[in-house]
Amino acid sequence: MELPMDVSKFLASTLKLWIGGQYLSPSSGKYFDVENPATEENIAKAPLADGKDVEKAVEAAEGAFRVWRWESPSARAKAIRDFAQLLRQHADELACLDALDSGNPVEAMKGDVRMAADICEYFAGIVLELKGETIPGGNDFLHFTLREPYGVVGRIIPFNHPILFAGMKIAPPLLAGNTLILKPAEQTPLSALRLAELAKDVFPPGTVNIVTGDGPITGQSVVTHPKIKRLALIGSVETGKIIAQRAAEGGIKDITFELGGKNPMIVFPDADLDRAVEGAAQGMNFHWCQGQSCGSTSRLFLHSKIHDEVLARLVARVGKIRIGDPMDPNTEMGCLVSKEQFEKVTRYIGLGKDQGAEVMTGGGRPEQFKKGYFVAPTIFSKVQPDMSIAREEIFGPVLSVFRWDNEQDVIRQANDVHYGLTAAIWTRDFEKAAQLARSIQAGYIWINSSSRHFLGVPFGGFKQSGVGREESIQELLSYTQIKTVNAYIGKPA
Ligand code: NAD
Repeated sequence: MELPMDVSKFLASTLKLWIGGQYLSPSSGKYFDVENPATEENIAKAPLADGKDVEKAVEAAEGAFRVWRWESPSARAKAIRDFAQLLRQHADELACLDALDSGNPVEAMKGDVRMAADICEYFAGIVLELKGETIPGGNDFLHFTLREPYGVVGRIIPFNHPILFAGMKIAPPLLAGNTLILKPAEQTPLSALRLAELAKDVFPPGTVNIVTGDGPITGQSVVTHPKIKRLALIGSVETGKIIAQRAAEGGIKDITFELGGKNPMIVFPDADLDRAVEGAAQGMNFHWCQGQSCGSTSRLFLHSKIHDEVLARLVARVGKIRIGDPMDPNTEMGCLVSKEQFEKVTRYIGLGKDQGAEVMTGGGRPEQFKKGYFVAPTIFSKVQPDMSIAREEIFGPVLSVFRWDNEQDVIRQANDVHYGLTAAIWTRDFEKAAQLARSIQAGYIWINSSSRHFLGVPFGGFKQSGVGREESIQELLSYTQIKTVNAYIGKPA
């Protein structure tokens, strides 16, 4: 498929870091290859930022902070609204870049751009909620709190929704008066670098800085920088643990974590089975990012009375998903992001087979693809709780199906992993669903739904799945620290 002219031009240019409102070459002169996972061809070289580049970005962000923090909240909100508008105007181009380096379908990525814009506008709309409090005290003092920005914030994001995260994660720190260093994933740096250029007239130089590169060099330089007190990671539990340790080298920091999941979907016999079958397919996010989503309901618990029927209908439903070139607007499911990810997912499929689960559909690369990291939607039945595919996050299009009979057992099994991000409960008995929602250890629960996120609704994980809540007022407030003022005002007359 022919690329739009602006995308071709961008890819042919020498990509640079975005620091202090300028494109800069990396200090080390090093670049890394950006691969199109559908063709296995290198399509661009992205700059590898090291400690020196991060230092420059921090200096630029500190300089910008001195001005940006004193802008009125409504002026900051206007800039974010203008930014959202730019996202919408350039949706096709940004979606195209995401499809090229992530393997996600281009139409789904247009949806991601729109979602990023919607979320930016939502946050801009609640900027005046950055309120403090007054605290009752003695007659002669007035006690009040102010919500103040931290200064330079570091945000590190993953590969699965490149433009969605790059776009929407800019809003809360900036609205709260901080300036930002954003590090995209090494697999998917393109849309964030393009975004920087688009936003140059909206944000003052240094307000948003974008450093591309890997975790150990670029990411760690951000994490350990002593002047970045507020950090946020969206990524794996393993990376979260490393960051929690390494960050302390740079001082005491406030860090939020949006990490992985191995999320249960529990279907009762009285559920609306038409919707439950669709909910199980949508819940796996096959169609959006090939199952590479933290919130995917990748453990499906079917009551034995409806197990065989739902499984058969789900296999038929999943068989209709159109897998193809991520750039084709008719494609519903593209390919995995990298060779590494392909190998990880296919290794888990092998483990599932070896450990005795049964492949009902999929199970590897579909025959029509001779290259590209394509994996067919895969459903395993007869999954037992101790199998690897029952316990570990695969982060690919692999669904593990379990049969259940006893409600207490299914709750125990649903909770028997160290993750706790999302869960879905399917029954027409709302009282039962509400009780179950309280028993399930997860931060985000759907009743008779799956996969969807909603504006203003807190998203985040229990247990190893994270710390903090995003996509809601909690995210905005988390980019502020509280200052208390105790003012002597004398005795009342
Ligand atoms: P990852 O943890 O490998 O990488 C995420 C980001 O962290 C990348 O930018 C990477 O370069 C950076 N990084 C890696 N090592 C680092 C280090 N030592 N120091 C600093 N930065 C480092 O994750 P991934 O493979 O890109 O994404 C998949 C994971 O993200 C899955 O576990 C998924 O569940 C999770 N995720 C969570 C959410 C959520 O909202 N909870 C959303 C999307 C993805």
